[in-house]
Amino acid sequence: MKDKKHWDVIVVGGGIIGLSLAIALRKHELEVLIIERGEPGHEASCAAAGMLADCAGELPLSLLAMANASAKMYPEFVHELQDESGIDVDLREDGSLLLSSDSTKAEIEDDTRTLSSESLKELEPELKSDGCTVCYRKERSVDPRLLAKAALLAAKHRNVDIVSGAAANQLLTINGRTTGVGTNHATYSASTVVNCAGAWAGGFGPYPLRTRPVKGQMLALVGASVRHVVRSPEVYLVPRSDGRLVIGSTLENAGYDKRVDPHTIQRLHELAINLVPALRMVKVHEAWAGLRPGTQDDLPILGETTTKGYFVATGHYRDGILLAPITAKVMAQVIVGEEPDFQIDFLSPLRFAYKELASD
Ligand SMILES: Cc1cc2nc3c(=O)[nH]c(=O)nc-3n(C[C@H](O)[C@H](O)[C@H](O)COP(=O)(O)OP(=O)(O)OC[C@H]3O[C@@H](n4cnc5c(N)ncnc54)[C@H](O)[C@@H]3O)c2cc1C
Repeated sequence: MKDKKHWDVIVVGGGIIGLSLAIALRKHELEVLIIERGEPGHEASCAAAGMLADCAGELPLSLLAMANASAKMYPEFVHELQDESGIDVDLREDGSLLLSSDSTKAEIEDDTRTLSSESLKELEPELKSDGCTVCYRKERSVDPRLLAKAALLAAKHRNVDIVSGAAANQLLTINGRTTGVGTNHATYSASTVVNCAGAWAGGFGPYPLRTRPVKGQMLALVGASVRHVVRSPEVYLVPRSDGRLVIGSTLENAGYDKRVDPHTIQRLHELAINLVPALRMVKVHEAWAGLRPGTQDDLPILGETTTKGYFVATGHYRDGILLAPITAKVMAQVIVGEEPDFQIDFLSPLRFAYKELASD
């Protein structure tokens, strides 16, 4: 990238959304630069649990078709990243056990089958269901830290340029057309800029994007024998192949505070112990917090703004790991002017402006 000053596309933010999009744009042979304020992949994307939960009840119904498509893309998405990075991202195929106190609700979900207590015992012997209906759903999970690392190496392998430790603080325009991005130290030129700055996306560019950080605290135990993802209304457990068990999470409106509260971690641990009593004997290995990119209506923000060449791809809230492959594909299609696989007008950044006008 030495002495290079112009790119086709600048991606602001190197989380899983920015990295996946940069890779997708390279497949269209565009020259891409990622500008990342800190280290790529070190914010929400490496704090996530990594469930690929593309089912009703886990995400807004209007996103279900895209989520299903993204979940289907995952094996190929991961295969490519692993191939180009040499990193195994721990894509697990064991499926999820969903606990619900409402048996009618559990039964109407597609792709799930209700388990008898005998088959539950066989699948997850230490799980206590305590009168809940337990359904099995064929679902995958991934280790988001490894995924982000692999995506970063794959992006480099595909010659995506990356500037780390530089916050983008200005969208450069001439006569309403995008011309580049400014940081404190330099300017970078491109006629297309995509804001993938996650929970901080509202702080970049000329429009109030109405993103909001939603804090999630998590912990990991080492040495637990849980094999499936387990989701109850209060807590979820996500096993990793290296022996860790990730337990989450909270949904907190705490601004940009990423501190871990020991009482909250203790409470999550207790909720997990209620499901699997053997976890009482397993030590907490690590605890952390991350900031989900939330929006006013809990839907992502995808599409072009009224400034020609300035796009937004953010606001994936609780589902950004799941939605990364389809977001990257569809946004790349929109940017190069192809018909996208999914209509994303309902996710347009302009929807907030319309609402503001309507309420005037
Ligand atoms: C506790 C928790 C559990 C989760 N569990 C799951 C799950 O099981 N499944 C799932 O699908 N999703 C899950 N998520 C959600 C998922 O992690 C996010 O939706 C996803 O990571 C968002 O990716 P992103 O790239 O938009 O944001 P981020 O990963 O936050 O990346 C944004 C990047 O932009 C950078 N940036 C910000 N401002 C600027 C600027 N001005 N200039 C340059 N760079 C900037 C940041 O430093 C950051 O690296 C979870 C999230 C949390 C916190």
